[in-house]
Amino acid sequence: MGSQVKRKCGNCEDTKIQVVAKGQYAWAEYCPSCFSECKACDGTGFLFQYDEQEREQAIPCECKNLDLRITLFNNAQIPGQFFDATFKNFDVSGDPSLEEALRTASFFFKNYKNGNRKGLLFMGGVGVGKTRLVSTILRDFTLNHGIPGIFREFSSLLSEIKTGYDKGLSESGLLEKINNAEILVIDELGKGRKSDWEIAILDSIISNRYNMRKTTIFTTNYTEKKSTTYVEPVLVKTDKEGVKEKQRKETLEQRVYSRIYSRLKGMCDFIEMKGPDHRHPYSEFSG
Ligand SMILES: [Zn+2]
Ligand SMILES: [Zn+2]
Repeated sequence: MGSQVKRKCGNCEDTKIQVVAKGQYAWAEYCPSCFSECKACDGTGFLFQYDEQEREQAIPCECKNLDLRITLFNNAQIPGQFFDATFKNFDVSGDPSLEEALRTASFFFKNYKNGNRKGLLFMGGVGVGKTRLVSTILRDFTLNHGIPGIFREFSSLLSEIKTGYDKGLSESGLLEKINNAEILVIDELGKGRKSDWEIAILDSIISNRYNMRKTTIFTTNYTEKKSTTYVEPVLVKTDKEGVKEKQRKETLEQRVYSRIYSRLKGMCDFIEMKGPDHRHPYSEFSG
């Protein structure tokens, strides 16, 4: 007792890492307030020791671990707007479904570590915090636990593949990285035009990951019921010359078709996030 309270770095709480929004993505770097060159290895990243035959051996220093986790986080390409997302600051707004979603997300790594490779699928309306929550999970895996992962918004992934075609790159080459990712996050599943090509790409990714028992995490605005699923305004032609706006309500199963849907059911736990009443005057300020 009576010992000095160890002072925490006000910038990074002694994690030695700060995360900022840099362009499109969240970016991790050494904390400028408390980072100093590693004293154990003089910043070389290696320690030297001698084996039984008196040969010098280079052993990676503990500080390399921090380097690795920073690299994994930056390679994940988490959206910049969620650079500060953590389990601690997730706003559940007193809603039981959001509390449950947060609990599942924060225990996800523990389950994964215990050998449960089943993924998660968060479904619910716009603005309930789905993307924030999956960004937090990916931050936990990469930055806190050193496990690689990739974040892709589904329509960005599709345009990436299209850009690849234009450059003459093969589809399989591009998809290899996605298929082999240790943890894959697909944001906005079901968004797009639902063309045959889009469905075929999705089917290929999901089948591959399903067969390889890889962990995949999804978000989607489409739910399992007509009453809660995404309402999409569509223009339909009328008998006369004009067009009129109609509302289309598709469930997730209708959106991605039965084959993909049943795979999703097999490889993920489904979690519905209901969130606060959007008519509430302050709801626009919550993430
Ligand atoms: Zn610091
Ligand atoms: Zn070191």
